[in-house]
Amino acid sequence: MSDKNATEVVLADEEGIARATRILEAGGLVAVPTETVYGLAARADSPEAVAKIFAAKGRPDFNPLIVHVRDTEQAARYARWSDHADLAVTNYWPGPLTLVLPKRNDAALAPAVTAGLDTVALRAPAHPVMRALLNRIEFPLAAPSANRSGFISPTSAQHVMASLDGRIDLVLDGGASDQGVESSILAIRENGSWEELRAGPVDLDALHRHYFDVGLDDQATVAEGSVIEAPGQLVSHYSPGKPLRLNAREAFPGEFFIGFGGGGSDFDLSPDAHVAEAASRLYDALHQAAISDHARIAVAPIPNEGIGRAINDRLRRAAAPLD
Ligand code: AMP
Ligand code: MG
Repeated sequence: MSDKNATEVVLADEEGIARATRILEAGGLVAVPTETVYGLAARADSPEAVAKIFAAKGRPDFNPLIVHVRDTEQAARYARWSDHADLAVTNYWPGPLTLVLPKRNDAALAPAVTAGLDTVALRAPAHPVMRALLNRIEFPLAAPSANRSGFISPTSAQHVMASLDGRIDLVLDGGASDQGVESSILAIRENGSWEELRAGPVDLDALHRHYFDVGLDDQATVAEGSVIEAPGQLVSHYSPGKPLRLNAREAFPGEFFIGFGGGGSDFDLSPDAHVAEAASRLYDALHQAAISDHARIAVAPIPNEGIGRAINDRLRRAAAPLD
């Protein structure tokens, strides 16, 4: 931000999108709704604009950013695209799948975007507001989650403001994010082998079976988040700032109880026990637990299937103590 004005929140209508476009072109910061969580966007080709993301979030500079593009054609300007990459995105772009690919030497990206790695993370989001922006501008958008580094990701404009008010130029309010957890991250190596770096809305096991079905799985491996190459995998992340107890059957005195599948709780992630609904409400539950007057948080067990794997991944990190 160039001055000390408070951050403005505007509706993500034509006028709001036009305003966001001008701010982004001028190198400013705009929080934008996506189908996963709200992103903090800046032009990815400008070192000054990208530096503002790290400053606003207090993000460590070894943690690279995802580059958001319109489509595979734009993605291929930044990564060495491959048949494997094509196959992976066939059913999932636009959508909540990020690919980590070898970076092109001539990629016009600020160096901090890739934190000095020789790979680049790319995603074509599905949310109409993010797509409208990407269609209006020539450059791609670097956009991590729109929250202070290490804390709970935002799934509403209010969550963004709770964390970044006064630190960014504008918030486009497009309502609640549908998916509610960050994108799945899949690294595809030069030899075609691949690896899951972060669990998310896309079921990478299903994608793996698809590869198997079409006979292109010769080298594919799906290793669950073994590598600290994606620092979203840092052990403590998504922190609500209070102790959090997992797989709780009931609340102990003083705990804010986040339930699943009915029964008494302070916030039920999905009374009918649907994991997708639980994912879409997870961060709202953690935000409410964080601001409640309960000193501690307990969370009911969540089935570890489909997007439930992403929920459990985030909860484990939310439960890890901040150092
Ligand atoms: P966030 O946008 O805050 O959800 O974080 C983006 C995630 O993408 C982080 O976990 C990054 O470490 C990861 N990421 C971005 N670029 C790369 C890359 N080139 N290689 C591996 N992981 C990456
Ligand atoms: Mg994040």
